[in-house]
This record gives sequence, structure tokens and C-alpha cells, in this order.
Amino acid sequence: MSIKKSPWIIHYDCSSCNGCDIEMLACLTPMYDLERFGIVNTGNPKHADVFIVTGTVNTQNIPVVKQIYNQMPNPKVVIAVGICAATGGIFRGCYNVVGGLDHVIPVDMYVPGCAARPEAIIDGIMKSIDILAEKQAALDEGVVPEEICGGYIYEGEHDEHGTLITDEDADAAEEEQDVGATPDQEEQE
Ligand code: SF4
Repeated sequence: MSIKKSPWIIHYDCSSCNGCDIEMLACLTPMYDLERFGIVNTGNPKHADVFIVTGTVNTQNIPVVKQIYNQMPNPKVVIAVGICAATGGIFRGCYNVVGGLDHVIPVDMYVPGCAARPEAIIDGIMKSIDILAEKQAALDEGVVPEEICGGYIYEGEHDEHGTLITDEDADAAEEEQDVGATPDQEEQE
């Protein structure tokens, strides 16, 4: 199966100290040579099978993470690399940090470490290829993509805690504003 022999990866660094990002890039150098397993690094989500995320997800980068995920074709797998991507790590609890990557998109594999070692990252990618192959087999059997790949992730607005603002929230906020408006303001509207 070609997807198993040569999966393409896309990598996004959310923030944090960049340590895991550097280790991820080390995997692509001749020293660790991820390409020897047939793995190709791409900058285009539409060409990628494996989404590798390092760093903490925060309110600024949620839309980027979701957009990359949504643009990837099915089947796809997601790997959270490092403790920041898994839980928020040492930045957990900061005003703009959401927590782990799985608050935002479905995650298939967690690679531990602070920073995650290149050997562990490569191991995680190799294991994720089996998951990718399983998802491909399920799709071939007619399972709908939403059941195994999470489907389209709504990209809407988020509040300062990273929580998605639903239509109901927006309506409630509008009503609240209307209650506080003076008759002159209402007239202007
Ligand atoms: S897990 Fe550690 S090394 Fe990796 S980005 Fe977070 S703080 Fe940096």
C-alpha cells in the first residue's frame, strides 16, 4: 500500500520554547534521516497524510491548526509531539493556553518528552503509519470519513479561553448589549 510505504508529513509549531520544533527538524536532517523510511516532508496540507504538531495550542493559533487539519485529505493522522502539545506542558494555565492539542482536533498519537527526542518522534511517526493504514482500509470498506478521521472541524470564533463561540452565545451577547442600550442608541441601530 503506497500510503504506508511513503506517507507525507506536515509539521506545525504552535509556540512554546521551540525545543520540540528543533528536534522535529533534526529528524529531517541527514543525521536522523526520516526520509529513509519513505517519509516526505511537505508544506502543503493538501498533500499531507500525517499532521505533526509541537508546542502549546493557544487562542492565536487555534484557527491555523484547524485550517491545516481541515485541508488535509482523508485518511489522516495527527501526532502531538512533546508535553506542550499533549497537555499544554509548563505553559498550561496561562491566560491564552487552551491545554492539549486534543481540545482542538482529534489526536491519534502522543510522543512524550520535553523536549521529545528525535528517536521518539521517529518512533511515533512509524507507529502512526499503521494507524493511517488501518484508516485507509476502513475507508476502502466504506466507513464514512467522519467516523475515523473526525470530519470537518468548525473554524469559528473563540473566546479568550479557547472555547468555541457558538451561534447561541453570539445571540445571547447581542441581546445583552441590546438590554444595556439607550433609546438613542437603539434608534441609531
Ligand atoms: S515540550 Fe518542552 S521542549 Fe517541547 S516545546 Fe514544550 S517546553 Fe519546549
